[in-house]
Amino acid sequence: MPKCMLCSSKAAVKIPYLGGHLCSTHFSQYFERRFLQTLERFGMVREGEKVAVAVSGGKDSLTLLYLFSKYRRVLGVELVAVAIDEGIGGYRERKLMAARRYAGEWGVELVIKSFKEAFGFTLDEAVEALMRGGLRYKPCTVCGVLRRYLLNRAALELGADKLATAHNMDDEAQAFLMNMVQASFRALSREGPVSGRVHEKLVPRIKPLYFAPEREVAAYALIQGIESPPVECPYIAYSTRHIIRRWLNRVELGDRSVKYRVLALKELLRGALGGGVEEFKTCKVCGMPSSGDVCKACSLVAYVRPLLTTLFNE
Ligand code: SF4
Repeated sequence: MPKCMLCSSKAAVKIPYLGGHLCSTHFSQYFERRFLQTLERFGMVREGEKVAVAVSGGKDSLTLLYLFSKYRRVLGVELVAVAIDEGIGGYRERKLMAARRYAGEWGVELVIKSFKEAFGFTLDEAVEALMRGGLRYKPCTVCGVLRRYLLNRAALELGADKLATAHNMDDEAQAFLMNMVQASFRALSREGPVSGRVHEKLVPRIKPLYFAPEREVAAYALIQGIESPPVECPYIAYSTRHIIRRWLNRVELGDRSVKYRVLALKELLRGALGGGVEEFKTCKVCGMPSSGDVCKACSLVAYVRPLLTTLFNE
């Protein structure tokens, strides 16, 4: 049976790039140290700041909330958790139950914003309408754009200095490959561990799990007893990211360091393309940050609403 390479106790997690195993205690210390070092290395938070942690109810975001709640005094930050209810039947409400439970247990206020309240429709309703219109926008596009918009707006309303998201190394490698596939060079230069404030209404985003592989986040969550309901979004079949995720995991079976190399290439390219700072305009409709005259959220809402009106009048 493998042993921890630091204390010879029973091994809990294999760390291939360290060339051995760690027991649950040493792995947890190692994982937490990387979280704190990432915060420090990129100057992600400063004492006295208010951090809004985006929580979906999945393992990654619950782990991030746990880490922040554990170290909030050491870091000297005030915390608030923000969740978005997109209105995905049979899925989101179960994840939100976990978010409510853990936020209460860890003493963090949880604020939930919903698509229905903000845009007048749930994601389920939007998808039904979009299907009839030929599915010009995929569910994940609508979901991602509106969720990011609402998270930023909520963080702004709550007076947060930073918006922390639980993107891990796998997410970043997948996003990089997606941006490559879509030839989205603008996104390639934007997505890093921190985003600078380039609009007065854009809360700077930070990703403290940027260098943590997904399997290590899952192992840490398991060790800490953090559980998330095992439900999958019904729209995952439409997700390009999901296809890339499965492909990358398959490649990794024969090449353990592929994700590190993808991330390293991503960082190199990001530096060459401008280092992640993007200037925003102001949306003419809602006054929020936008890359064009009208932000993507307002454009999507303007496209979906008439489809919904037709659907409801049938
Ligand atoms: Fe949203 Fe797509 Fe994720 Fe479902 S799979 S929660 S639709 S981004």
